[in-house]
Amino acid sequence: MYDIKITKAAQLKVKPTDESNLGFGKIFSDHMLLINYNEGQGWHDARVVPYGNLSLDPASSVLHYGQEIFEGAKCYRTNEGFNLFRIRDNFERMNCSAERMGMAQMPVELYLESLLTLLSVDKEWTPHKEGTSLYIRPTMIAVDAQLGVSAAQSYLYYVLLSPSGAYYAGGLAPVAIYVEDQLVRAVRGGVGFAKTGGNYAASILAGAKAKHEGYAQVLWLDGVEQRYIEEVGSMNMMFAYENKKIVTPALNGSILPGITRDSVLKLAAHMGYEVEEKRLSIDEVIADAKSGKLTEAFGTGTAAVVSPVNKIAYKEEEVNVGDGNIGTITQKLYDTLTGIQFGKLADPFGWITKI
Ligand SMILES: *Cc1c(COP(=O)(O)O)cnc(C)c1O
Repeated sequence: MYDIKITKAAQLKVKPTDESNLGFGKIFSDHMLLINYNEGQGWHDARVVPYGNLSLDPASSVLHYGQEIFEGAKCYRTNEGFNLFRIRDNFERMNCSAERMGMAQMPVELYLESLLTLLSVDKEWTPHKEGTSLYIRPTMIAVDAQLGVSAAQSYLYYVLLSPSGAYYAGGLAPVAIYVEDQLVRAVRGGVGFAKTGGNYAASILAGAKAKHEGYAQVLWLDGVEQRYIEEVGSMNMMFAYENKKIVTPALNGSILPGITRDSVLKLAAHMGYEVEEKRLSIDEVIADAKSGKLTEAFGTGTAAVVSPVNKIAYKEEEVNVGDGNIGTITQKLYDTLTGIQFGKLADPFGWITKI
């Protein structure tokens, strides 16, 4: 049991009444969680306070050198209460990111207990409408007020809650993606496997270019040969072959180990599909899409769960995947995973924390 102080907001916000227009990450609940760290005291002063601005010294290292990590999870409203999905995995991954970025790690029990304390105050911000959820954004920043480049000695950990809309209001919609063969997102030995803001900063230019050309996402290739598939946007990438096999790039240090990726691989194997993690070249995927061996492609991540892809643009060419509609494997994985998350299907893997 940790000592977590709660100060309630004097005035509560009005919750959105139209849940069909929530969007993503635009509205925040009444409260937030803060915990400070410094070398002498360790993690201390855990508190739930009214949502509001932070006060930071402008010399804070996060603002100059980007020492920042974050997580993304969701709280789902069910018939009996609320579900969290594989939340321990999020916090264990946050500690992996912290280690790579030279930041302080936190006991998983403190991450968990403090989140549950914040949710005990604000869980009713979880929207009701089908497919909606309360997005959870744990963040850690380096707050040493000095311009020297070294591991900081003080950190601020905070958690925001944001009611978010159904990703697919009108059913799963397949998108066209664009293979980026000049810019790279991450390199081996770098920070690609860590959930850190800099990876996103590095991806924004290519994302804008893709949007400008009419594509929904960027398909990233490896940073050495620009030949092997890494990720799509900020999702992991999966390919389905002839209705029976799922192939995804093996984790290599520059790919972020998605919890949805791992869940899809475990579910797919459980459903009887063959699953393969390997080094996968873009040439192989393009050839298999043309021959028709590749029948489905989709991204995986917490926000969308799965995002079907029906077209891949590489160099001067556009190649179709499947018949343009959502593939049967993609739909089945989406239905099963969201069924478990929303408490409508059994949870054979013990992924759910009920609150
Ligand atoms: C968060 C993230 C993912 C998806 O991870 P999930 O745990 O499935 O949400 C994939 N790629 C990148 C770069 C990410 O930041």
